[in-house]
Amino acid sequence: MGLDKKFLIENYRRQEDDELFYLLANEYNDLTEVAKEALAEELSARGFAEEVSRVITVHEAGLSPEQQEYYAALVRNLSCPHCNSDKERLNALMIKTREGDFYAVACPDCLSKIAGGSAGENILAASFGSFMSIINSVAVMISINDQLKIVRKGEDTAGFTKFIKTRVGQLELLKNNKYKLIRMLGNPEARVL
Ligand SMILES: [Zn+2]
Repeated sequence: MGLDKKFLIENYRRQEDDELFYLLANEYNDLTEVAKEALAEELSARGFAEEVSRVITVHEAGLSPEQQEYYAALVRNLSCPHCNSDKERLNALMIKTREGDFYAVACPDCLSKIAGGSAGENILAASFGSFMSIINSVAVMISINDQLKIVRKGEDTAGFTKFIKTRVGQLELLKNNKYKLIRMLGNPEARVL
């Protein structure tokens, strides 16, 4: 085994399962080949070979329209991570910041509150912390209002579709665990599962 890989495995060995799963689910495609192997080996050594293989398959094969719809339906039908209501389908707002794109996933009412400030501030503060000031900029609010119109029509927002695409590894990993799935939707930026 090369030194690089040995070093990487030793590093991964010091991390919690959830941290490694987060890497596998969300950042696998950005890793070097050696890091991919080291991560897969460490998780397999912990007894998660089956999960590793499922998630890698999703990353490597890319999403067919049918699979995209499968994961979208999975998320749409969950109860809202902020108010627990299951009366209306979940949707998402994509919030663009200089640090990257962030997502709020919730029922239409909660998304309106999140976009409207005050009532949404606690949710946003929990999810995005220091990004609040950027979120309040005028340009961002205009784009959020456009997304809210789509939410009110009951159609997938572009943010929802992109969320499904970028988080497909995590959705695959958590698809049989609604509790963890809803918790992830409530705080999509948390770097653990
Ligand atoms: Zn809600």
